[in-house]
Amino acid sequence: MNHFPATRDAALARVAALDPEAYARSRNALDGAVSGLSPYLTHGIVSAAEVLAALAARHPLTHQHQFVYELAWRAYFRHVWGARGDAILQSLHAGPMPETAYQRVLPEDIGQGRSGVPVIDQAVRALYATGHLHNHARMWLASYLVHVRHVHWRTGADWMIAHLLDGDLGSNHLSWQWVAGTGSSKPYLFNADNVARYAPAPWHSFGSVIDTSYVALMRLAQGERPPAPAPSHDGVDPPSLLSAPPAGLATAPSAQALPGLAVPP
Ligand SMILES: Cc1cc2nc3c(=O)[nH]c(=O)nc-3n(C[C@H](O)[C@H](O)[C@H](O)COP(=O)(O)OP(=O)(O)OC[C@H]3O[C@@H](n4cnc5c(N)ncnc54)[C@H](O)[C@@H]3O)c2cc1C
Repeated sequence: MNHFPATRDAALARVAALDPEAYARSRNALDGAVSGLSPYLTHGIVSAAEVLAALAARHPLTHQHQFVYELAWRAYFRHVWGARGDAILQSLHAGPMPETAYQRVLPEDIGQGRSGVPVIDQAVRALYATGHLHNHARMWLASYLVHVRHVHWRTGADWMIAHLLDGDLGSNHLSWQWVAGTGSSKPYLFNADNVARYAPAPWHSFGSVIDTSYVALMRLAQGERPPAPAPSHDGVDPPSLLSAPPAGLATAPSAQALPGLAVPP
């Protein structure tokens, strides 16, 4: 099922459906009233200015509103990317462990969504199935990979962006650095209680490696040897990554309808 039809109408429908007050109350929850606009913003189908103008016409919206604040993160990451260029592909400063202490290969059990930690496996499967993830799920996945499994943030960032419909080097790689603590003042850590607060039951991870205190998680992030993973057997195959448009896309009716777009025979 395509959750994000690549049309401007689909983008405008999401703008029309957005309730800024419900957003501010619930955006941290996986079933919260988030916009799902990121693929459309990344690919320029709507602009942030246009979204804000449409919302401001319906709701009182100050620059301190949570939705404006989140959009500003996107703009901020773009500015940092513009100012620092390819330097954002390297750690901006030291993190909790030396660079060489992190492994540079994605563990197979994570790539196949069978780590045995429900929140991680649910997130990987949702990423593969939809090309999208809620912000909290991205944070959990990144934090687990870097701080519990000691995988370098760059390895995780390169893997995740390849599967995202909203993949944006600024937002993605700088968010990974924010989680890793190489682009922020401290590593982002989370535990099973945090997951239970914001995610539905199948994601709950009591009894797993993340069912522990923040003090214990910080020790792991700083280099304590992590417990051996306990992967399950029922993994999923990662979807193939395309280096060219899928067959048939060029002749799709929506492509033909675009004025000025030359459609090859
Ligand atoms: C590890 C990690 C990787 C990420 N990679 C990307 C990426 O490649 N592309 C991308 O667009 N966003 C990325 N984000 C930011 C954020 O997760 C997504 O923008 C958001 O989940 C998209 O869903 P939404 O449109 O429903 O967001 P909403 O909550 O509805 O937010 C509205 C818009 O604000 C912007 N926004 C919201 N939260 C953030 C944030 N934390 N940082 C930057 N912009 C934000 C997005 O443009 C989003 O569409 C990443 C975050 C993390 C933690």
